[in-house]
Amino acid sequence: MKIGVLALQGDFREHIEASQACGHKAVAIRREVELNDLDALILPGGESTTIALLARNYNLIEPIRSKISSGLPVYGSCAGMILLADRLVGGVEKQETFGGLDITVKRNAFGRQVDSFEEEIDFAGRRVNGVFIRAPWVEQVGSEVEILATVNSHAVAVRQGSILATSFHPELTGDLSVHTYFFDEICR
Ligand code: GLN
Repeated sequence: MKIGVLALQGDFREHIEASQACGHKAVAIRREVELNDLDALILPGGESTTIALLARNYNLIEPIRSKISSGLPVYGSCAGMILLADRLVGGVEKQETFGGLDITVKRNAFGRQVDSFEEEIDFAGRRVNGVFIRAPWVEQVGSEVEILATVNSHAVAVRQGSILATSFHPELTGDLSVHTYFFDEICR
C-alpha cells in the first residue's frame, strides 16, 4: 500500500519508517496534491497546536477533512489523536482539528507530574509497550466508537470505522503491532 504521513511537524519520520518496516511504501505529505492516490494517512505525534496552524497555512485542513469523510483510513498517534477528535478539552483558543472521530479528547490529560511514562497495555488483544508523552486521553466516545485500550480506565486507543487513534506512540518503540493492526485490520 501507499501510506501518506503528514509531515508538517512531529515524529513523522518514525511513522514513515514503521510503515516501511511493515512492507509498505510511505511518503511525507506537505501539499494537497500529495494526498491523492494514498491508501491510508497517518497523523504523527508532536504538537497538535503547531500541526493545526501549519495545516491551516498550507491549506490542508479542508482537503484532509474531505479525505477522512470520504473514508480514507487514517491513524493518528497522540497529537494525531487530538487532530482527529471532533471535540477538544484543554485546547488553545480556536484550536482547529480535522475531526471525523466522534470523541472528546482531553489534551495533556495525565498531568504534569506524570508527564511521560511507559506502560504495558492490552491493545485489541495484543500486548504493547505504550509510550505516553504529554498524552491526551479520551473523555467521551460516541456510539460508533470502539475502545481498544485503556489506562486507569481512561480510553487511550479508539477506533471508529476506518479511523484509528492512540494516545501513545508505537512509532517510537520498534513494536509494529499497532501499525500492523491498522494496515491489516483497517486498511484492507
Ligand atoms: N501534548 C501534545 C499536544 O497537545 C501531544 C503530545 C504528543 O504528541 N506526544 O499536541
